[in-house]
Amino acid sequence: MAPQQTVTPPALPGPPTSAPAPRAQLIHIEVDRRLGHEWDEWNGRPLPKGGDFSAPPRLFFGFAALTVATVSGVVALLLYLIAPRLGRLWGPLPQTLWIALAAFAALQWLYLGVLAAAFYSTRNLLPERLLERGPYLQLMNYTSLIARAFGKRDWVEHAAIDVYNTLAERRNRRVGKGELLVLIPRCLSKQALDGVLEIAGRYEVPVFVATRGQLARRVIRERRPRAVVAVACERDMMTGLRDVAGKLPVLGLTMQLPNGPCRDATIDLGQMERWVQGLVAAAPARGHTKQ
Ligand code: SF4
Repeated sequence: MAPQQTVTPPALPGPPTSAPAPRAQLIHIEVDRRLGHEWDEWNGRPLPKGGDFSAPPRLFFGFAALTVATVSGVVALLLYLIAPRLGRLWGPLPQTLWIALAAFAALQWLYLGVLAAAFYSTRNLLPERLLERGPYLQLMNYTSLIARAFGKRDWVEHAAIDVYNTLAERRNRRVGKGELLVLIPRCLSKQALDGVLEIAGRYEVPVFVATRGQLARRVIRERRPRAVVAVACERDMMTGLRDVAGKLPVLGLTMQLPNGPCRDATIDLGQMERWVQGLVAAAPARGHTKQ
């Protein structure tokens, strides 16, 4: 994402019902289009389906299986090629490595099976450190690399983030209002931005415009939240989850990009409100959702 950090303080508690809805204050925001480095190769043409990369979770699981098979296949090929030389170093070495590779491959398939069973059932089956905040984050990123080779990157990343969010939501985490952070990018449309600020004001949570992943991580370091609701495109969200979700619980809301990357992005404000409300537990008296 492009430089320039912007910070918004939380709104004050809500006034009586006759007064206008509380709204977090935005001090400054970038409005021009400057591509985040994730979109460097964009050719300027409209994105498919108006920049909506929604995809079913099975797309992720299919590409994850392909990733596991590819990794095992590449390592097996390398081992096959160098096995004669390794045998000259120590006779049993090739066979030992073949056994280790078979065990590693079996472990990967087992993990993928447990992950799919956890997602499609209603129980997470493993602690979060072994699931969505553990090896899953690496699997997401390797799967994204394979998906790029097939031109399916954004759709597979969207499906991977949906799987992550489903597992993370099931933990039913609760934090205090001051312990939650909402991180948004600089590319939101005015309507989306207004909606986010309204939700943040209503639930009294701080909103930060994090214009670069590096700055987002600095904000997190300094504010020390106990949970984060982050908004970003699929490409930026993958990087953010990889860097942050292992250390801190994060829910990641992806966007639609009707005017191409890095400008006028729209989001599902209803989803954002459900997440914020669920995390801070004590909902305000007056509920509201806007698009
Ligand atoms: S989050 Fe927005 S500004 Fe950042 S890379 Fe994605 S589209 Fe561009």
